[in-house]
Amino acid sequence: MSNENKSIHEFDFNLICEYFSSVERQGPGSPEVTIKALSFIDNLTKESRIADIGCGTGGQTMVIAQNAPGFITGIDLFPLFINLFNSNANKLNLQDRIKGIVGSMDNLPFKNEELDLIWSEGAIYNIGFERGLNEWRNLLKKGAYIAVSEVSWFTEERPSEIDEFWQDAYPEIDTISNKVAQMQKAGFIPVASFILPENCWTEHFYAPQVSAQEAFLKKHAGNKTAEEFIANQRHETQLYYKYKEYYGYVFYIGKKI
Ligand code: SAH
Repeated sequence: MSNENKSIHEFDFNLICEYFSSVERQGPGSPEVTIKALSFIDNLTKESRIADIGCGTGGQTMVIAQNAPGFITGIDLFPLFINLFNSNANKLNLQDRIKGIVGSMDNLPFKNEELDLIWSEGAIYNIGFERGLNEWRNLLKKGAYIAVSEVSWFTEERPSEIDEFWQDAYPEIDTISNKVAQMQKAGFIPVASFILPENCWTEHFYAPQVSAQEAFLKKHAGNKTAEEFIANQRHETQLYYKYKEYYGYVFYIGKKI
């Protein structure tokens, strides 16, 4: 990669971060769904160590802290998200129980068998579902839990337009039964899996982006990269509304054997 390309690439990342830091969530989800996923986890105490990997600005992390005991470390690649994460924790007076740090999910700062729970909403795709489950498992105590949400197919077959879109965006997308089998193969009891309701996409993820997109385009008027980025976001949203019976996000909860 030439330096010129690298700087364009970094510029894109900055724009994407700026855009997503203007909305509460960086992926589909809701407080109700986080609480539902938490209801399957029964081992937590005040001493528990929890990691929220790919935490973004912490929409779900604050909900975990308000509904479960333990100390949560949120980890994200982007300093802008982590700054917002820590100021959100302060605002809610949760700073003694939550800490956001910059780091990468493929090089996590935890010891083997240190954690009681690994949480990751809409982020494990960055390392890949199977690789994430296998590597992160080492950091969990025996009997500890993992709870991750991941895009999944709801049917064996689907129209080629949406199939091709996702094969290109995330070739590891698979059916729920195959994902559950992967979790079991990685050394977890598949405790639960459930489909996130549509409002996690429509109300909590796409709706807040409508005004964010307008503001972003106004601010970056004439910037081709920004315009292309928003066009892609809008295309993805349209595909969701067209094909939502074929795919969506699914929460997978496993217990380390
Ligand atoms: N959990 C949040 C954010 C999901 S979006 C929510 O549900 O709202 C995915 C997040 O993964 C982004 O915040 C992105 O910055 C982060 N991410 C991407 N690659 C990463 C990596 N290698 N290590 C840590 N975080 C990463």
